[in-house]
Amino acid sequence: MTDQSSGSVLVVGGGISGLTAALEAAEVGKNVFLIEKNAFMGGRVAQLNQYFPKLCPPTCGLEIQFKRIRANRNIRIYNMTTVKSVSGAAGNFEVTCVTAPRYVNNNCTCCGDCVDACADERDNDFNLGMNKSKAIYRPHDMAFPAKYVLDKEACSPETLEAVKAACKYNAVDTEMAEEEFSLNVESIIWATGWNPYDAEKLENLKVNSSNAIITNMQMERLAAPNGPTLGRILRPGDNKEPESFGFVQCAGSRDENHLEHCSYICCMATMKQITYIRERYPEAPIYVFYIDLRTPGKYEKFREKIMADPNVHFIKGKVADIVAEDDGTVTMIAENAVTGNKMSQKVDLCVLATGMEPAAKIQAAQLGLTVDNLGFIVSNPEAGMISCGCAKKAADVVTSAQSSTAAAMKAIQAGR
Ligand SMILES: Cc1cc2nc3c(=O)[nH]c(=O)nc-3n(C[C@H](O)[C@H](O)[C@H](O)COP(=O)(O)OP(=O)(O)OC[C@H]3O[C@@H](n4cnc5c(N)ncnc54)[C@H](O)[C@@H]3O)c2cc1C
Ligand code: SF4
Ligand code: SF4
Repeated sequence: MTDQSSGSVLVVGGGISGLTAALEAAEVGKNVFLIEKNAFMGGRVAQLNQYFPKLCPPTCGLEIQFKRIRANRNIRIYNMTTVKSVSGAAGNFEVTCVTAPRYVNNNCTCCGDCVDACADERDNDFNLGMNKSKAIYRPHDMAFPAKYVLDKEACSPETLEAVKAACKYNAVDTEMAEEEFSLNVESIIWATGWNPYDAEKLENLKVNSSNAIITNMQMERLAAPNGPTLGRILRPGDNKEPESFGFVQCAGSRDENHLEHCSYICCMATMKQITYIRERYPEAPIYVFYIDLRTPGKYEKFREKIMADPNVHFIKGKVADIVAEDDGTVTMIAENAVTGNKMSQKVDLCVLATGMEPAAKIQAAQLGLTVDNLGFIVSNPEAGMISCGCAKKAADVVTSAQSSTAAAMKAIQAGR
């Protein structure tokens, strides 16, 4: 079945960029279809503890967007949905989409009664695998739409029966199946964002060799009040309160064997994460190994404040190796680029500032997208294919939102 509405726009990706682009197009009267592969909207921003420059919780910006979406009848949202194929041209695209089964229908009131009845668990991907959740779960406590999801694969037949029986609203539907549908739209905005670069590919940094090595996104979840440690920054595995911290900048970025580009935000993310540490551990020494510090424009003041802390040590040098020690600590080994000396630093917890990899890289060829040599989607408004946010280039939230507003303006003119 094809869902058709004249002058309509499809937005792929429901992160801050997709939400912004969808709202901008809808508020000038366009019909907008917004599809998101996750069970919730908000993308990576929803996983952050706070976001710079103001260090607000993600609820600040996202809740406003969700409220505007709920109030706008021009936007139709589809979760757990991806694009299967695109045909046609600007002004008349035929897009086939696929929605994965949620196994929970719209009757769900988020009462949570099914959770107690559920005996099985799954790795909590929202917390980057640092804890488990029940197999029927709300993706996170502010998830929009407010509906549970069932991970059927993780459940025994007895658990499936038990969660069904526990739901007095008949919301659990274990027979739900994948659904395919078509949309006819005039233009497509690609707001597919980014994925954290896979730290396992950084062989010298040995992320799996010790619980004391985590990524910057894991640090966001550790510091978040709704994270696996309820906001306490503890070392995974033994829950020790770390007495010293290390950061490895450019972990995978600016490296021709991994990501060639500068990921733009990971210097600022580290500065921000130092504030998380300082709130909980006022005296702990922190060692930041970097090649360059990139804190452009308005972020310079933030950097200056962090660098004024006498217990934060910035060392210009690339970490060549991380060695797991028997006492649970790790030793970071680097060459100091200023003195030329090899140096080593033992820390209780080491954070890899891993970069942003364009998410669309995986599907780009299949969907006929033009990508640059780094895998970011090249915008082509004449062809009705417009990219924005981190699908277009690594960026912070403000820059992503600006490019999404611009994308909406281009999309509503496509096909004319
Ligand atoms: C450690 C770290 C900390 C950060 N902290 C800050 C900060 O404090 N302040 C700040 O301004 N920025 C920060 N950033 C950057 C911020 O995360 C990005 O600017 C923001 O996520 C960009 O939003 P986006 O919507 O473009 O992409 P995303 O947040 O990646 O959203 C893209 C969405 O598209 C969906 N999607 C992907 N592919 C498909 C598909 N094929 N079909 C359907 N849906 C799809 C995804 O599931 C996702 O929901 C940080 C980044 C990192 C790495
Ligand atoms: S699925 Fe049913 S029991 Fe579970 S939260 Fe939703 S309404 Fe409540
Ligand atoms: S923002 Fe900083 S840490 Fe990230 S890639 Fe650029 S220079 Fe390296």
